[in-house]
Amino acid sequence: MTGATGNATVIAIDGPAGTGKSSVSRLLAQRVGAHYLDTGAMYRAATLAVLRSGVDVEDAEAMARVVDDARVELVERDESPSAVVLLDGEDVSSAIREADVTANVSAVSANSAVRAKLVELQRRLAGDRYVVVEGRDIGTVVFPDAELKVYLTATPEARAARRLRQDTAAGRDTDYETVLASVNRRDHLDTTREASPLRPADDAVIFDTSELTLPQVLDGLITLTEKRIGVK
Ligand code: C5P
Repeated sequence: MTGATGNATVIAIDGPAGTGKSSVSRLLAQRVGAHYLDTGAMYRAATLAVLRSGVDVEDAEAMARVVDDARVELVERDESPSAVVLLDGEDVSSAIREADVTANVSAVSANSAVRAKLVELQRRLAGDRYVVVEGRDIGTVVFPDAELKVYLTATPEARAARRLRQDTAAGRDTDYETVLASVNRRDHLDTTREASPLRPADDAVIFDTSELTLPQVLDGLITLTEKRIGVK
């Protein structure tokens, strides 16, 4: 690695839950011919490891040890832009989306030892590739020299409505009030934690997606990418 971004060409997409970040990041990667790295999936896999181990999420040292021992892998598939997430060799792609993981992921990701391990993995996976990296601290901490930084936002109500549609489509039983409360709680924890809080990088382009459709957000990001990076 030569510098904070190494030799990778990075499009950093940060923002809170429910802004359409994952869908648009995946599509953007496909459209511009880049790889796609979902860092939230890594924090979710680490959280699943902690929950399975039975250690208390209040016990920072024990939690860090569990995550340090866990093997988190993202395996790209040719036919799909989203990687398979492996925890100690087991496919946990669905398990990491379950409610107990979502409820605990902010507590696990506030742990600075957990973050150090996963940030290193993220930089290693980016390597020298062209990659869209999606998360909370990508433009601020993981790749501060990213070629393009985008911070997606939307009102909590728009984000909760989006999450509810996704959960319902995935067959998860929930309702608007529960999802809104979960979104607000996670935002609060993510923005107020000491280690790498969620915030826009000073040089990020801020994009409010509340009133926009997915194709509109995607078009905006493709235009930004063409301006900053060109078509590779
Ligand atoms: O993106 P997703 O909603 O799957 O992320 C789950 C959680 O992982 C976030 O709420 C946040 O606590 C944590 N996270 C993080 N840093 C990242 C990506 C995700 O702290 N780069």
